[in-house]
Amino acid sequence: MRPLRSLKEIIGQEPAIRLLTQALYSRRLHHAYLFTGQEGVGKETTAKALVYHLFCNVSLDEPCGSCPACQKLDKGLHTDLLLVEPEKREIKIGQIRALERELHFRPINAEYRVVIIRSAEKLNPEAGNALLKSLEEPPPYVLFFLLAENASRLLPTIVSRCQLVRFRPLPKAVIKDYLIKRLGLDEDFAETLAELSAGSLGRAVELAEKGLLEDLHAFVSAGTSNKASAKYRILERLVKFLPEDQKRFLDLLRLWVLRSYLSEKGASPYPKGLPEERYKGDPFSAELAIALCESALESYVFPELAFHQLMIKLF
Ligand SMILES: [Zn+2]
Repeated sequence: MRPLRSLKEIIGQEPAIRLLTQALYSRRLHHAYLFTGQEGVGKETTAKALVYHLFCNVSLDEPCGSCPACQKLDKGLHTDLLLVEPEKREIKIGQIRALERELHFRPINAEYRVVIIRSAEKLNPEAGNALLKSLEEPPPYVLFFLLAENASRLLPTIVSRCQLVRFRPLPKAVIKDYLIKRLGLDEDFAETLAELSAGSLGRAVELAEKGLLEDLHAFVSAGTSNKASAKYRILERLVKFLPEDQKRFLDLLRLWVLRSYLSEKGASPYPKGLPEERYKGDPFSAELAIALCESALESYVFPELAFHQLMIKLF
């Protein structure tokens, strides 16, 4: 998919977009924004779209997509857009110092230099305090966008320096519609992914693109069959996943357990896109087995072993 280049294309976040659009057109952008909201609701997409408006050489209103600035942004190569994100688990003071040095230089190809800080709650205390200085006395050409799930995990002094913009979970219908129209998914599949994504469009798209739902089907059908080859195939696949995808897969498995349980109790209908075979055991022991697998993966137990144990316990 091409990158999203306009605030007008952001879906489901009208109050946030209205506020930013007004600030943009009246040329009254705050020097620091804090975008809060769960992962995948459009915080980073919005910050980047705003940068297209600011940097496009042709139009502030409709970024053109073809001028040198838009092209550089498309490729992630624009020197006036700086990204900071956690290295391993946190954002460290060295990263903020490097950023400060970089910000001494005026923009080269634009009016502003824009800094996007992903997962700002991961700023460690020293880094947070260092950033605070930049937020207090920023060079006039610098704009900050701090992205965080929750403002309460940031230093209050940082929060008070920023204009807070809240991003809300997206309604299921909005996500479903997007999946059908933009990704060309069929209705049932889109419905299930929208449901599983719990208001996060990013998560829904990721589930669709990575095919984790298909893996869940394969895992359940292998677990309930007595074909060793089917078991071996899916276990071998899971082992090759990146750690964050293994975690997502386990979350999906949790959801399958929960939805099986809820439908058995008559509390809510079972989603069509989940495996036909429902979980029949006790949900608490399933959760225990999943949590055990999770901690085994985190402590570098052989993933083959962790997933195999999980399969044995669940089926
Ligand atoms: Zn342009």
